[in-house]
Amino acid sequence: MDLSGNMSLIVQRKHFAKLADFGCILCYKIGYGEGTPSEIHHLRKAGIRANAPVIPLCPEHHRGNTGIHGLGKKAFERMYDLTEDDLLKLTHSMIGELNG
Ligand SMILES: [Zn+2]
Ligand SMILES: [Zn+2]
Repeated sequence: MDLSGNMSLIVQRKHFAKLADFGCILCYKIGYGEGTPSEIHHLRKAGIRANAPVIPLCPEHHRGNTGIHGLGKKAFERMYDLTEDDLLKLTHSMIGELNG
């Protein structure tokens, strides 16, 4: 059994659960409130997807017409005047880094 692999998976699951509990980071940022049921969005950067940073977004802000996948990253960032990185930084300041 690969214990170290399992441990990091558990840490990651806990982190995801914390994110999901907090709710949509964009709803929080634009004043819709905390605790909107959310999904995990992976930031697509160079590198390994398994280690990609993640932010919590509600289904609308994730896949909906006003969401990052619905609008596309560029239009999304223009619409809210926020970059994915801004949301990631905010997520980290609210919830803490993975493993943190
Ligand atoms: Zn939202
Ligand atoms: Zn996504």
